[in-house]
Amino acid sequence: MILSRRIFFLFLLLGGLPAGILPAVANATAWVSTEVNGVSYLPLENLRSFYKFTPLQRSARSKALAIIGNKDVRLEFGPGLRELNIGGTRCTLTHPVQSDAKGDYLISRTDMVKLIDPILRPTYIQGRQVVRTIILDPGHGGHDVGVQTPWIREADCTQLVAAKLRDELARRLPNVKILFTHEKNQPRSEQQRIDILSGVEAPIFISLHLNSGRSDVQGVETYTAAPAAPGEKPRPGNVYDTANTALAYAIQTALINGTEAKDGGCRRARYSLLNSLNCPSVSVELGYATHEEEAKKLATAEYQTKLAQALAEGICNYARMADPATKLAFIEPPQVEEPPTPVKADLPAAKAPNAKKATKRTKATSTRSTRKSTTKGKKGTQRSSKKRRR
Ligand SMILES: [Zn+2]
Repeated sequence: MILSRRIFFLFLLLGGLPAGILPAVANATAWVSTEVNGVSYLPLENLRSFYKFTPLQRSARSKALAIIGNKDVRLEFGPGLRELNIGGTRCTLTHPVQSDAKGDYLISRTDMVKLIDPILRPTYIQGRQVVRTIILDPGHGGHDVGVQTPWIREADCTQLVAAKLRDELARRLPNVKILFTHEKNQPRSEQQRIDILSGVEAPIFISLHLNSGRSDVQGVETYTAAPAAPGEKPRPGNVYDTANTALAYAIQTALINGTEAKDGGCRRARYSLLNSLNCPSVSVELGYATHEEEAKKLATAEYQTKLAQALAEGICNYARMADPATKLAFIEPPQVEEPPTPVKADLPAAKAPNAKKATKRTKATSTRSTRKSTTKGKKGTQRSSKKRRR
């Protein structure tokens, strides 16, 4: 698994994606759009043909799992799951995978445009620009120590890792300015942390935290602002949805490779800080302070150095992808072909949200247009959708 992830990043950094996943520019993909519970869905087969992936296969682990991909990357889908494995890294979907009357899998257009495409084609992320400033936000500080357990205090750990990360980044990216949201023991309000962005050139924002939960839960998780739900007004952070995904994926993958911690995945959240930031941003949960073994490891200088090196690796990978000078495999302008307006699937109310009876479909050849998610309907209900302050 680790090897395949490394290979995946290697080809990304060598200049975009191989010919195997060139978009279907010459032969426009015939997108088939179905509306399920107010959400626009696309068949997995559409994605497969758009990225020129090999035919869908069933996983050896479980027949319910479908795999598409090529020699460099594979994507693993399961019906009803709100999770997708891409290149060995877990990613949380905004809407669960559905299956239609024929048993074919459907994936939401929001996830196609704002999760899958920015990972598969990171050089097409919106607002791609050279990273000039990295803002490090060690969670908590001063009287606010964050999570505290017999083994560790969150604020101590995040500040130590942030300091090591600053040194790593200064060495690897000497031309990039590195700022902290606050100095040790000088707590800042959320608004003060947001205000640091004003007047700063081409920033990205990295918030560092420790998690808490059941004593048997462990692992690293990287959060981004959740895309706006259908009908919901986008927040400032949603301008960077595709960049957020690319940044989170780069960091989460580097952390899993560099520390071999449990992969808690790239996740979505409605943290007010992430929603409010006017730049690509993530919040990284470095581990669980409530898991004895992990917390004891997090408290060691050796592991903190490992975390800082992995974070720096992920940030550098993102910076390479975000730099417009990074060679592209494509000469065409960035695009995701927009599927037609979905036709409502005839679902008996009792069967929702399962889409097994989804039968009505429209078929149309798409026109090229800008990448926009225009799903309409019921509000998303993803696990991490609760408003939380960080
Ligand atoms: Zn925290």
